[in-house]
Amino acid sequence: MSTHDKHNFIREDIDHLKSENLLISIRTMESAADGWMMVDGSRVLNFCTNNYLGLANHPRLLQTAKQAIEIWGVGPAAVRTIAGTTALHLELERRLAAFKGVEDALFVQSGFCANQAAIAPLVGKGDVIFSDRLNHASIIDGCRLARAKIIVYEHNDPSDADAKISEHLPQYRRGLLVSDGVFSMDGDIAPLDELYEVAERHGVLTMVDDAHGEGVLGHGGRGIVDHFGLHGKIDVEIGTLSKAFGVIGGVIAGKKLIIDYIRQKARPVLFSSATTPADTAACLAAVDLLEESEILVEKLWENARYLQQGMQSLGFDTGNSQTPILPIMLGDAGIAKQFSRSLFENGVFAMGIGFPTVPQGLARIRVMNTAAHTREDLDFGLDVFAKVGKELDVIPYWTFDNLNRMS
Ligand SMILES: *Cc1c(COP(=O)(O)O)cnc(C)c1O
Repeated sequence: MSTHDKHNFIREDIDHLKSENLLISIRTMESAADGWMMVDGSRVLNFCTNNYLGLANHPRLLQTAKQAIEIWGVGPAAVRTIAGTTALHLELERRLAAFKGVEDALFVQSGFCANQAAIAPLVGKGDVIFSDRLNHASIIDGCRLARAKIIVYEHNDPSDADAKISEHLPQYRRGLLVSDGVFSMDGDIAPLDELYEVAERHGVLTMVDDAHGEGVLGHGGRGIVDHFGLHGKIDVEIGTLSKAFGVIGGVIAGKKLIIDYIRQKARPVLFSSATTPADTAACLAAVDLLEESEILVEKLWENARYLQQGMQSLGFDTGNSQTPILPIMLGDAGIAKQFSRSLFENGVFAMGIGFPTVPQGLARIRVMNTAAHTREDLDFGLDVFAKVGKELDVIPYWTFDNLNRMS
């Protein structure tokens, strides 16, 4: 019998992660996702969820989900291509396509799945993908599954994308340019209009993952394509129904020819069961709400601007955000961890984010407000950030923050 400990590599790696302050500790939610939540036994102001519009616990969505269970049961019982496609799924796809102003939409289990589903049918061996340096992990994995050559261009840099396409495209059969719409850790927006022009000039397919733009950017939350007025131009729009829409699920939207093709080929559609009736129906209710009114989207942006200004006047570095995603840049992963812990002790739940989610040395607290937060909630949050920021020497002890905010 071998005396070699075949699990030792795991202990060594965990010790290494601990020593680098990179071990993730996972908190337990003890109430529904909302502006305030019970977390690990404490009632805290929630700045952690992607529940942008406060729909995750919205009465209309809850009621629709309950009704769907009564009619359709709880499980899909099959993959979409065998017996898992219900009238609910088709209705949601029709409604999502109409909401986004595209010919067709395919609803899948998650945004993560959407990227696994959409890329491989379009490019494969012998093709090339041009991918933004900071693209989301699910895009990167989707690209790897496609087995095309991956060429990374510099973040949000259309001229570098142009140069990389000129250099590499001739060696391959066809190309695909793919970018996040809103970058989830920095909150900056891809220059999709310029990227589209570059790709179009070279005859390269285009795909944008609008997970953090859907329900946030554009007219009434119609997303980044609407924000730039690029309707009918981007080949594939990926979205998620797990963030602003408050439920779960992913969407692949675009021209009927392309979406129908992905429907035939996508492995998450062929080999993983469909979304549940309750989820699918709740997504339909979310689309209803977004089409009825823009109030929640407006509230989200009003809150986001207030919080960003407040943090800046306290002296925090809020990075390059152009959206409600608000990074509080701290640099050191240990400080970010300590900061998050102190916030929590003072009643604010905001996560420290470090490597590998963001590059080494760019650790931060990511603050996510929602339309479910009131002005008083935000003021409470700002006061706690001021207190912790001063205690940890991140911001100067003396600022005119309160003065600025009250004026
Ligand atoms: C969150 C996110 C996803 C994953 O979406 P889920 O629906 O949670 O699986 C995909 N892409 C981007 C850019 C994201 O930010």
